[in-house]
Amino acid sequence: MQSFDFSVLFLCSLLFGSIIGAYFGTAEYRIRQDAPLLTRDCFCPVCGHVLTGLEQIPVLSWLFLKGRCRWCRCPISIRYPLIEGSFLLYYGAVFLLFQETPVRIPLCWFGFTAVLLAVRCRGHWRGLAKGLAVFAVYHLLFGGVFLMVCAAASVSLP
Ligand SMILES: [Zn+2]
Repeated sequence: MQSFDFSVLFLCSLLFGSIIGAYFGTAEYRIRQDAPLLTRDCFCPVCGHVLTGLEQIPVLSWLFLKGRCRWCRCPISIRYPLIEGSFLLYYGAVFLLFQETPVRIPLCWFGFTAVLLAVRCRGHWRGLAKGLAVFAVYHLLFGGVFLMVCAAASVSLP
């Protein structure tokens, strides 16, 4: 793998991990509240302010907002940036570990997310099933494109 391809794929892995982590924090909350998974905007649970795109950038938004809602200034739990950062590190580490056998990468990503969701949302079976389906679709779509790019990057043209 060329160093440029490696860097791009590694950055994409970190980005995908942080996005999945951000959605994991939201999905886990919604499943435990028996709230719809995909139809509602992200909002502050105290004042109901709907979050803009800039307020939803993994880890950075929390740091920029100093851990508080922009409207009501109520504290936003540090668990959100911690989850996002943990997913970012895990997804990056899996890429580094399995870059020679890339088929394992999306499987390890999804396996981790699925087990964690199952543990955190046990008892909320219907929401958990929907959540697993949503994460499976995200990983199939991203993982499919990711593996195609890996395959293209490993083919050396004359
Ligand atoms: Zn608020």
